[in-house]
Amino acid sequence: MSDMTKPHWLVDDLGPKGAAFIDLRDFAPPPENSHGSLFLPDRIEKGYHVEEIRDGAYWVSVGWYDCMFVVTGRGVVVLDAPPAVGERLLEAIETVTDEPVTHLIYSHWHADHIGAATMFGPNIEIVAHERTRDLLARFPDPYRPLPTDTFATDATLDVNGVKIELSYKGQNHCEGNIFTYLPKQKVLAAIDIASPAWVTFRDCDSSENLAGWEQAHHQVLEYDFDTVVSGHVSRLGNRDDVVEGVEYLDDLVRYARQALETIPIEYFHTGMDGPYRAAFRAVEENYFAALVNYVTKKVLERKTSNGMRWEERLNGADVLTKHNAFAILEKTRLERTHNGYLRRDGTPTSDKFFI
Ligand SMILES: [Zn+2]
Repeated sequence: MSDMTKPHWLVDDLGPKGAAFIDLRDFAPPPENSHGSLFLPDRIEKGYHVEEIRDGAYWVSVGWYDCMFVVTGRGVVVLDAPPAVGERLLEAIETVTDEPVTHLIYSHWHADHIGAATMFGPNIEIVAHERTRDLLARFPDPYRPLPTDTFATDATLDVNGVKIELSYKGQNHCEGNIFTYLPKQKVLAAIDIASPAWVTFRDCDSSENLAGWEQAHHQVLEYDFDTVVSGHVSRLGNRDDVVEGVEYLDDLVRYARQALETIPIEYFHTGMDGPYRAAFRAVEENYFAALVNYVTKKVLERKTSNGMRWEERLNGADVLTKHNAFAILEKTRLERTHNGYLRRDGTPTSDKFFI
């Protein structure tokens, strides 16, 4: 990149001190089935895509963010208000009904999914998990008003006979992240959990509790659903997509455990024993690089259940797997292992993983 075109804020010369840049050509061609609404003409023309899933349940997508609404005959219930969709959501609703929005459900407290909540005005009911309320009260945001109704584990919203089941199964992507299920339409919203035909955003979508996030994928499969709304990736999902995502995640978890069992940190002590104060950090950095690369190579080289490799099945698997591998490794080490402790004679007790 020449200095003539290089913006003043672009720092691309840090070498090992900085993050690596990537070229589009470094990515494998994205699988056709991952394109979703990104390539639909109405999204390109109007900026959004709106589609009836079934029986009054609609999906709105701008390509990289999505949300859902349900027309009940006596008002509209909306799930999430992503700022990236913004007031196009109002426009999308107006294209299918003139009923007012009466309820808004917050899937979780993250601003990228509910940060346009004020567009509906002050006279709606906002339903969320009680931890979502706590977090929004602790970190106030004028664009994310506090919920008017909260629940602890399960709640059913019944608006004019349209049932919406809300369930909190414990911390996963973040505290307070809920499942929203429409039993009649067999639609499940599992926001920032499911990721149909794509690898998840880096570091497993910045999820906080990866044992819980992994468990949540299996909890999705316990629902009787035909359609899953993920909050991202431009495409609705089905059961096969979730099963595929679970297989990818299982690969990450399995190889992360294998890497933690196989790679000794002591290997990286070699050559680091001079009067060099940074040695501890260098050992740590190289150890994690070795762990991440081990997992990434194993995951990407494996022939998956249908004989294809992940980069042929999931958009971005090739280049982004390393980020997910790091998140899984680090959280596996923290949440799911017990690597023993040192005895008085300096030998460790047994190494094992929790199931
Ligand atoms: Zn989130």
